[in-house]
Amino acid sequence: MKNENWLSPAYYKDFCCKADKCRHSCCSNWRIPVSKEEYLKLITVECSEDLNRRIQNTIVMPETVTDSCYRYISFNWLGECPLNNDGLCSLHREKGEGYLPEICRLYPRSLKQINDVRIASCSSSCERVVEMLRENDALNIGEIKINEEPKLFYEVDEEDIRKMMVFDDLLKKDDETLSDKIAMICKIINKEEFEKDYFSNEDPLNSAIRLLSRFSSSNEVLDKIIEQISERYKEDNSLFEKDRTQFEKNFPDWMDFFERVINNSMIYECFPFVDKRADQTKVYKGLCATYGLLRLVCIANNAEEESEEKLVDAVSALFHLIDHTPFYYNISCIIDNTAILLKL
Ligand code: SF4
Repeated sequence: MKNENWLSPAYYKDFCCKADKCRHSCCSNWRIPVSKEEYLKLITVECSEDLNRRIQNTIVMPETVTDSCYRYISFNWLGECPLNNDGLCSLHREKGEGYLPEICRLYPRSLKQINDVRIASCSSSCERVVEMLRENDALNIGEIKINEEPKLFYEVDEEDIRKMMVFDDLLKKDDETLSDKIAMICKIINKEEFEKDYFSNEDPLNSAIRLLSRFSSSNEVLDKIIEQISERYKEDNSLFEKDRTQFEKNFPDWMDFFERVINNSMIYECFPFVDKRADQTKVYKGLCATYGLLRLVCIANNAEEESEEKLVDAVSALFHLIDHTPFYYNISCIIDNTAILLKL
């Protein structure tokens, strides 16, 4: 491992896991893929009887076994990782960080390399990251030294690098609304299709509710919000207008915050390269969907309970779905008119 220079948002160097203080720990309801090498290390580790029992209880076989996904560390019937002991990982505590599977050791960090540029960021699926993104300067990009190798590589041409920089500048423009800035980015990617979607006659709220319902069972918090949304706006869409006004009154800085959250996701996903299977002329759809679902989820959630913590929980729940599933790929396959979600 070399101590190399990495570009990263300002929050990265200050990130520290909340461990047992976390309301919705990443150690819940998540199957962790373990490589063959990590699995062999886990089952042969010399450790206490208690840790050994916990390890035996946690390993399950995936449907398709590969060297990189050889087994899963799976959750128990309570949705908790069997290695978790009062909010702290018993493997980490007893044997140290070196025994953790890579995903547990690195989460929520992402270490990527685009051509010869190394970019480190964190996923907004972690509540601590979202809390840090509430700060104005959290996303200022700087250079730091990191003792890790990149985990994902992207080879792209110079024109694409230039585009990424233009997108970043556009998002940081002061004199436009966030939805207008996203529309500008989308038009650079695929103006013709974006405009066709944007001017379609569909109702943005109904489209967003329909889209969100396609993603139920993503995680507990999001499922609860989805249920609440379909109940609340089922018969009376005008309630949404009232809820939107209330949300914007409670969080007058919502637009700047959403801008940082969306920009953070673009850095995390290496937008517009994201999922390598996704057609790059269609990835703008994922960006519009991210904006629309962020609005819908946060506004409806605020109608249920007005608090800073609830806002953070809703955002991190949504980014479980966006950052840890093939969201951009799925969106580009299942729905055409996500552009109208910019009108929410
Ligand atoms: S979600 Fe974030 S703060 Fe919470 S336990 Fe996981 S890494 Fe730590």
